[in-house]
Amino acid sequence: MEKYARLLVKTGINLQPNQTLVISSPIECAEFARIVSETAYREGAREVVMNWNDELSSKIRYLYAPDEIFDEFPQWRKEFYLSYAGMGAAFLSISASDPELMKDVNPDRIARANKVFRRELKEYSERLMSNQNIWCIASIPTVSWAKKVFPNHPVDEAVEKLWEAILKSVRADLPDPIEAWDRHKAVLKRNIDLLNKMQLQWIHFKNNLGTDLKIELPKNHIWMGGSDLSADGVEFIANMPTEEIFTAPSRKGVNGRVVSSMPLNYNGNLVEDFSLTFKDGEVVDIQAGKGYATLKQIIDTDEGSRYLGEIALVPYDSPISNMGILFYNTLFDENASCHLALGKAYPVCLQGSEAMSREELIDAGINDSLMHVDFMFGTPDLQIEGMTEDGKMVNIFRDGNFDL
Ligand code: ZN
Ligand code: ZN
Repeated sequence: MEKYARLLVKTGINLQPNQTLVISSPIECAEFARIVSETAYREGAREVVMNWNDELSSKIRYLYAPDEIFDEFPQWRKEFYLSYAGMGAAFLSISASDPELMKDVNPDRIARANKVFRRELKEYSERLMSNQNIWCIASIPTVSWAKKVFPNHPVDEAVEKLWEAILKSVRADLPDPIEAWDRHKAVLKRNIDLLNKMQLQWIHFKNNLGTDLKIELPKNHIWMGGSDLSADGVEFIANMPTEEIFTAPSRKGVNGRVVSSMPLNYNGNLVEDFSLTFKDGEVVDIQAGKGYATLKQIIDTDEGSRYLGEIALVPYDSPISNMGILFYNTLFDENASCHLALGKAYPVCLQGSEAMSREELIDAGINDSLMHVDFMFGTPDLQIEGMTEDGKMVNIFRDGNFDL
């Protein structure tokens, strides 16, 4: 735990002397959160602010609170995030939840609560998405989560196994995790640099599950991945683990069909065996073996949630994928597989985006939405080809892996 905590503080957040750190953590993860807090003080933090949450209390509220509550949002909460963001704090979130906790909850309540949450915290989340503040999301096991991932083991063993899987996926099982991350970042950077040089006009995905999808990329798009740079030039890792390299699709340039290869866990609701069909960027047909209502709600959130905001490449042969574990947690599962996201695109994926208004970004093909929901479609037989700026066809993936 200490090695992992140090990795999060040094490589994830890259905490600067005298910086404030806000740690959002489930109460069940308190022991680990305290170790991170102590590590951060040792590394020179000004103050570590604990922002506890409890998903069981959230569930009780969803089940029993009067209906109008779910369209409200307390101002102090907004003020909490914005005031610390304004002070230049870094934000570490420990993400660990029971994947099926919310299955008895009316999905309309969750959808409304999320909408209000996203609307009220838009300024805060935009600060994070444009790297004005440093942020990092990481995970540790909880009992209910471990039971879902390893249902055939006694609870203690399941938790132990999930710890092992998490530590392995974040390279904290290695003798020197910080050095291992430096090497990992260099590998990601090689592929990013090659793709950025090509400036692909479009990219085409095909596999035997039925995915046949062509995505145009905006002019001057940027592939990113591994580490990020904050507005002040501090290198950090927003997601630990991270195996993906990603960019923004052109909002109206998506055509064809994509078939999911893993379940999508959306706030405790699972959507399984689904496909989306796009025409000129917009979702025109959805199918789902399970969780159709949840998927429909995601897509109907606002105008932008019907369009794509992210395209991410992850080789099939990567540490998380090789473990062959379904984590029921996007942070891990999205790093096991190529994925797309419905909703908001990262403006940083376009050159010159800092100086552009929301309308200019949309005109340039960068989607906007209150939503950003990742779903996985990578398979061992996934083929990806693309057309370079000067009209040359290139193989990007052959049989699920990079072929650059
Ligand atoms: Zn992604
Ligand atoms: Zn994403």
